[in-house]
Amino acid sequence: MANQKGGVGKTTTTVNLAAALASHGIRVLVIDLDPQGNASTALGVDHHSGVPSIYEVLLGDRPLDEVIVASTEAPELFCAPATIDLAGAEIELVSLVARENRLHRAIQSMKREVDYVLIDCPPSLGLLTVNALVAARELLIPIQCEYYALEGLGMLLRNVELVQAHLNQDLRLSTILLTMYDSCTRLADQVVHEVKEHFGDRVLATTIPRNVRLVEAPSYGQSALTYDPTSRGSLSYLAAARELAERGFDPNGAGA
Ligand code: ATP
Ligand code: MG
Repeated sequence: MANQKGGVGKTTTTVNLAAALASHGIRVLVIDLDPQGNASTALGVDHHSGVPSIYEVLLGDRPLDEVIVASTEAPELFCAPATIDLAGAEIELVSLVARENRLHRAIQSMKREVDYVLIDCPPSLGLLTVNALVAARELLIPIQCEYYALEGLGMLLRNVELVQAHLNQDLRLSTILLTMYDSCTRLADQVVHEVKEHFGDRVLATTIPRNVRLVEAPSYGQSALTYDPTSRGSLSYLAAARELAERGFDPNGAGA
């Protein structure tokens, strides 16, 4: 999940899609790649400084398997937490060899078997996000239904093209998810229309509504699916996860 714009629903989407998939017995690993550690918090996973985390993995000090912990959400939902140490990684990685490939290599040599790896990116296009784009086969961009939604997206798309050209041919922008949809505003409908016109069938039919349960859940260290499984937020993420799972992975991509 990437979008350099802050607060568009990357973490909420990562956590709740993961919980939705895991609630059906699918094995999911969430990699928290944001120094804020919001995904770790939402999954009830300890991430104070000093906890073995994705930071050590990126710097080559630990294999990924050693930092993965079980979440409290579901038996098959795991998390590689991020601590505040990760804030230094953008700079520390610069001088290291294969600095863009570190997450990719770590995932490749992971022994744990999982069905999905979901990576929660920070709101920037720096080396952390580049590591995620190099490691991933698919990119999901959450887009908030608001006036400036498409602003800045061009920069993200150019980065995706650069990564595809030089670092990861397999990367596909496969999925757009519209978040924080407010049915009361005409503006939201306008954004939905514009995004669908631009991205076609890569836009999931499911739109995530504005829903307060999605906001409250992380403060209990829970996904919305655990906190309030019948809330509109939970049901919409279940529907989005179903769409993703039914679609499966298309190696030819829905277009790059
Ligand atoms: P950042 O760029 O800081 O990592 P993000 O893109 O990960 O942010 P989130 O943290 O998921 O975005 O969401 C930003 C804020 O909006 C949070 O307070 C979250 O609880 C809230 N939020 C996310 N999705 C919804 C929604 N569908 N309805 C209402 N609030 C939401
Ligand atoms: Mg986030």
